[in-house]
Amino acid sequence: MVPKVVFGEGCFDQLSSILSSKKKEKAPFIYLVDNVFEEDTKFLDRINLRFNDKLIFVSAEEEPKTSQVDTLVKNIKSEFTYLPSGIIGIGGGTVMDLAKAVSIMLNNKGSAADYQGWDLVSKKAVYHVGIPTISGTGAEVSRTTVLTGPVRKLGINSDFTPFDQVVLDPELTKGVSKNQWFFTGMDCFIHCVESLNGTFLNAFSQSYGEKAYDLCLEIFLGDTLSEKESRAKLMMASWHGGMSIAYSQVGVAHAMSYGLGYVLGTKHGVGNCIVFQYLSEFYPKDVALFKQMVAKHGVTIPQGICQNLTEAQLNTMITVALGMVPLWENALGADWEKVITPEKLRELYLKM
Ligand code: NAD
Ligand code: ZN
Repeated sequence: MVPKVVFGEGCFDQLSSILSSKKKEKAPFIYLVDNVFEEDTKFLDRINLRFNDKLIFVSAEEEPKTSQVDTLVKNIKSEFTYLPSGIIGIGGGTVMDLAKAVSIMLNNKGSAADYQGWDLVSKKAVYHVGIPTISGTGAEVSRTTVLTGPVRKLGINSDFTPFDQVVLDPELTKGVSKNQWFFTGMDCFIHCVESLNGTFLNAFSQSYGEKAYDLCLEIFLGDTLSEKESRAKLMMASWHGGMSIAYSQVGVAHAMSYGLGYVLGTKHGVGNCIVFQYLSEFYPKDVALFKQMVAKHGVTIPQGICQNLTEAQLNTMITVALGMVPLWENALGADWEKVITPEKLRELYLKM
């Protein structure tokens, strides 16, 4: 679990004082910042760069890759004599996952690809701080960093992955576009649905999942919240949704969304939405609610993205999705292979 967290509008300004006790002589803080803030001088002025601290803008255009992590680590190691005092990731799931992975790889040999899987990391990561600027993924709280590698899209799941400190300032999410707000917010809703309806469910996951699920209904279907309240509640829903899957698993939508992401580069949030609308046979009540949310917010979900796939691409997509064994086990139980066959996935993908 994340051991330290601050929450509240404006709490971003506490960052300098939080970091001051972690500063090691000659060792910089490296800030990885979503490049959506590149022109936002008002925001950048609030980041207090001192001594040899360095700010690196990162594009969230594509989801993080193991090769990108390796390059960042190589560059940091060649530019600085000392390992950084800390890595601070400021952005959405993309930038936060990069920050987690970079902090792990600064202290562990080889390529990030060597650590994709469960509990393969042996050495503690460099101190790392997560600061979400969009809510939903739960990346700020989870023990994984999802990376696309040479052979698979899979997380580095380890006890060293979670942030040492998280700064939850809902004000930072103000600039997010409506569609992106919805897609990333639905990632949270889908985490809850998949956790609460999964066979791995337990009291720990359920308690967080139910809270996050209720918050999502209030935010996306209710009419009473101010924008400010809604931003704060979605930030907490994301946190609780992430906590819920930490002790269970995600399910059908995530397994299939990974396939879309691997072959077409479809981003996680929108990919989940594309898939989820066709999953009534698995999650009937929640797919109906999801459709109400889509209609209420006038969001357009991309259609026909699998129409022009080659046979080879479709097969890869199916193989990647089928490879997510723990997700299927959670969703459908030990006998999942009787329900989810390559033909079944083909039929579903071809609807999308
Ligand atoms: P993202 O980080 O990819 O960002 C989406 C878009 O929103 C980008 O264009 C970004 O620039 C923009 N954006 C972010 N903050 C903004 C702001 N304040 N104002 C304006 N624009 C802003 O989106 P995401 O949905 O948060 O993250 C997706 C990634 O998270 C994927 O790579 C996925 O694999 C990962 N993920 C990780 C976990 C985990 O537990 N580690 C869980 C779920 C998803
Ligand atoms: Zn997700």
